[in-house]
Amino acid sequence: MTKKQKKMLTRILISAALLILANLLPIPRLWKIPLYLASYLTVGYDILRKAWKGICNRRPFDECFLMAVATLGAIGLAVYERSWDFNEAVAVMLFYQIGEFFQAYAVGKSRRNITELMDIRPDYANIEEDGKLVRVDPDEVEVGSIIVVQPGEKIPIDGVVEEGSSMLNTGALTGESVPRSCTVGDEVISGCINLVGVLKIRTTREFGESTVSKILELVENASSRKSRSEEFISRFARVYTPAVVYSALALALLPPLGRLLLGLPGEWSTWLYRALTFLVISCPCALVVSIPLSFFAGIGGASHEGILIKGSNYLETLSQVKTVVFDKTGTLTQGVFEVSGIHHSPFEDLKLLEYAALVESASAHPISRSLQRAWGRELDRGRVENIQEYSGEGVTGTVDGHAVAAGNTKLMRRLGLAWKDCHSAGTVVHLAVDGVYAGHILISDLEKPGVRDAVRALKTAGVRKTVMLTGDRKAVAEQVAADLGIHEVHAELLPGEKVERVEQLMAGRADPRERLAFVGDGINDAPVLARADIGIAMGALGSDAAIEAADVVLMDDDPKKIATGIRISRKCIRIVYENIVFALGVKFACLILGALGIANMWAAIFADVGVMVIAVLNAIRALRVSQE
Ligand code: ADP
Ligand code: MG
Repeated sequence: MTKKQKKMLTRILISAALLILANLLPIPRLWKIPLYLASYLTVGYDILRKAWKGICNRRPFDECFLMAVATLGAIGLAVYERSWDFNEAVAVMLFYQIGEFFQAYAVGKSRRNITELMDIRPDYANIEEDGKLVRVDPDEVEVGSIIVVQPGEKIPIDGVVEEGSSMLNTGALTGESVPRSCTVGDEVISGCINLVGVLKIRTTREFGESTVSKILELVENASSRKSRSEEFISRFARVYTPAVVYSALALALLPPLGRLLLGLPGEWSTWLYRALTFLVISCPCALVVSIPLSFFAGIGGASHEGILIKGSNYLETLSQVKTVVFDKTGTLTQGVFEVSGIHHSPFEDLKLLEYAALVESASAHPISRSLQRAWGRELDRGRVENIQEYSGEGVTGTVDGHAVAAGNTKLMRRLGLAWKDCHSAGTVVHLAVDGVYAGHILISDLEKPGVRDAVRALKTAGVRKTVMLTGDRKAVAEQVAADLGIHEVHAELLPGEKVERVEQLMAGRADPRERLAFVGDGINDAPVLARADIGIAMGALGSDAAIEAADVVLMDDDPKKIATGIRISRKCIRIVYENIVFALGVKFACLILGALGIANMWAAIFADVGVMVIAVLNAIRALRVSQE
C-alpha cells in the first residue's frame, strides 16, 4: 500500500467511526449535525475541493463535481425538510471513497503483479576487474566486453558464451519450464536465469538493444495502442455522463414545472431527490477502470506464456482470427536442412558444397546456414565477392574468381540456364559455375516437433482455415501440408506473391469481421507479416527483424503458442464484454428504478461501488491462462 492509500484508508475509517457514533449516540438530532459534518468533511474534503476546481476550470461533468452536487444536494434537502438526517449524504460520499480506494489499490496491485510476472529486468552486470567481480549498471557495458554471470543470476545482456557451461531457465521469456543447456560458443539472450555453472559471456549487443530491453519496451508501450473496445468506452463515457446529468436536470425541473402549470401531483423535493440519485449513477467508473485493466492483464498473461502482443488492438484482432496462414521454412519446419544427395555435378561433392557454402556465406536464409553447416569448415569470406541475394530464389556471387549461382529453378531461369529436375523428395538447390549448370544439392528439412498438434489446437481454438505459403517446390509443400493437416497450399511463391495470396485470402472472406493471421519467421516474409491483419513472428529469440515487423511475437519457436494466444485473447475479450454488459446493465436498471423512485441514493452508490469491484476482479481473471 502506498502512503497515499494508507492516508485514504485512515480517513475512511475515521469518517465511518464518526458516522456510526452519530447514529448510536442518544442525543437530540440537531446535536448530531456537527458529527455528521465532521464525518462528511473528513472523507470528502478533497472531492469538494476538486469539484470547486472543476467548476473554476469549466469542466463541469467530472466525477468529483457529480458527487459533490449529489451529496450537498442531499444535505440541502434534509435541511429543507427539517429531517436533519444526513446519513445518506455522508454514506454516499463514504462509499464513493471506499470504491475509489479499492480501485486504486486493486489496479495498482494488479499492474505491479503483471509486471512482476515478467520480472526480467536485470539490475546489474558483473565485470571482472583485477580478479575481482565488480557490479556495474548494464547500461555501461560496451559491446564486446566480457561479463560474468553466476548461478542464480539473470543474464543482463545478449552475448555468446566464452567460458563455462550451464543450464538456463528461459521461463520468463518463453513460458518454457524445461531448462536449456548452453556451452562455449552458444548464443545466450538476456532475461534468462543462469542455473548451475558460472558463465563468461562476450556481449554482442548493448543493453538497450538486448532482448530484455526490447521486450520491456514492447510491453510497456502495449497499452498505448488502444483497442476498439477501449476507444468505444472512452467515447461512450464522454456522451453518457452529460446525458445522465441533463436527464437529472430534466427530472428535477419538468415534473415540478408540470405541477405548477398543469396541476400534476408530486412534491418537488421528491423529484429533486431522484435527480440527485441520477447524478450518483452517472459516473462510468467501472468501465473506465476495468476495460483497460482487462487488456493489460491479457497482455501480461500472454507474455508470461512467451507470447508478446504489441497492443490491445492486436489482442482484439487476434481474438477474431479465423484463418491462419503459415510460412513453411523455419515456421512449420525447423529450417535446419540436411544434405540428402548431390546429383549431376561435374565437380566432386565436397567442391560443390564448398562453392555453395561460400556463395551463401552472407545470407541469413535457413538454407544458407544449413549449407554452411554441411560444408563444416571455417569460411574465408575474403574468397567471395559481389554477393547478391534474390529473395525467394537464391544467391549469386564470385567465388575465387568464378561466377557461382545457388538457388531454385526461378534463379536458373533468371540466369538463362538449363537445369536438371530432381525426382527425389526434398528441397533442391541448383548450382551453376561460370554460367554452366553444375548439378544440384538435395536437402531436406524436418517438421518442428509438436507442429501437428499445434495445427489441431488451432482448430479447437476456433480457427476455420489453415493455409501454407512457401517458396519451396510444390511436391515438398504438398507433402508437409498433408502431413500436418493443413487445408490449402500454395507453393513456389516469391515473397511478393505471398503478399498477393494473403490479400486474395483477405478479400475472399465470407464474413468481414473474420481476421487473418500470418505466421512467419521474419526472414524475407516481413512484407507479409506487415500486410496480414495480424502478423505473428516465430523464431524470435534474438531476431530483431521479426520483432520489428510482427504484431505478435512468439518467444520460443513453438507453433502451439498460436492457439494459446488466440485462447488468451478470446478470454480477455469475453471478459471485456462481460464487464461492459454487466456495468451498463446495472447502470440502466438503476437509472430506471431511480427515476421511478424505487431505487434511492443508497442503492445507487452500492450498485456503483459493487459493480466496480466485481468488474475489476473480473478483469484480473484475464491474467490467468487456462491450460489445455
Ligand atoms: P519459404 O516460403 O519456405 O520460407 P523462401 O521464400 O524463403 O521459402 O524461399 C523460397 C525458395 O527460394 C527456397 O525454397 C529456395 O529454393 C530458394 N531460396 C531462397 N533463398 C535461398 C538461398 N539463400 N539459397 C538457396 N536457395 C534459396
Ligand atoms: Mg521463409
